[in-house]
Amino acid sequence: MRGLLVVGDVVTDVVARHAEPLAPATDTAARIRTLPGGAGANAACWAASRGCQEVRLLARVGTDAHDWHADALRAAGVRPLLVADPDAPTATVIALVDAGAERTFLTDSAAALRLAPGDWSEDLLDGVAHLHVSGYMFFADTSRATARLALAAARDRGVPVSVDPASAGFVGALGVDRFLASVEGADVLLPNADEARLLTGLAEPADAAAELSRRFPLVAVTLGAAGALVAEQGAAVERVAAPEVRAVDSTGAGDAFTGAFLAARLAGADPAEAARAGCRAGAEAVGSVGGRPRG
Ligand code: ADP
Repeated sequence: MRGLLVVGDVVTDVVARHAEPLAPATDTAARIRTLPGGAGANAACWAASRGCQEVRLLARVGTDAHDWHADALRAAGVRPLLVADPDAPTATVIALVDAGAERTFLTDSAAALRLAPGDWSEDLLDGVAHLHVSGYMFFADTSRATARLALAAARDRGVPVSVDPASAGFVGALGVDRFLASVEGADVLLPNADEARLLTGLAEPADAAAELSRRFPLVAVTLGAAGALVAEQGAAVERVAAPEVRAVDSTGAGDAFTGAFLAARLAGADPAEAARAGCRAGAEAVGSVGGRPRG
């Protein structure tokens, strides 16, 4: 057993990079590209790019972009298990990226959060050594029910589960307690610093990481250009520096970290080594436009 199953989101990313601040009620020049993305899909692609064998992705897309996404996933070494939703379009995110590579998102989750319990089946776990669930799945009732099913089934089989909380904004909207209750039972939590702070109410990422690791056995908190922190059993155990890079577009940095971290863990790396692999991938992601590894 060595496969990685990701239950997550596939998103069409419209990335608009603008050098000048947005000018309301008139034009702002931008370089705009449409790229395949989604936290779950990106993490799956990064895991495959880091040598992870048999990476599969269960997700819902609209019929509008099903084939385009399936082809992009296959090209990245990921087996797409895409459910085509007859009634909703593919999730789309408009990412506004300013001169400092800071991102602002407009998010239409559309088909992504309509992944339904009927889309899940136990045999999806056959041959799977690890299940990763994108936090986005917990932000709507239907996809949360599906994510809970997958998590429970993985636990029944003794398959470890990781969750990336995905969005401080959406965690806040759902409610911290509700989010934590929904992901109860996960073995690995991979938040960024904002999410870790929000989930614990602790300002210092090291304190937040330690606190979260009382609930989740292994926690890696990403810190942007400052790297990442690993915590286990109630204590922060390692701080890993990020390689220096000229930041172009930070879309997918966290997904890159997640994919590379999981690939390294599945290959036998200890948590600190895996975090270093995650940071290398994160640096690569911020050095190029879009959330996926370069082909
Ligand atoms: P998210 O995208 O989820 O907010 P982070 O911004 O924390 O996640 O980035 C994830 C990882 O990507 C970091 O741990 C780091 O290794 C890498 N990274 C992010 N921004 C930079 C940067 N400016 N320079 C170098 N590495 C970076």
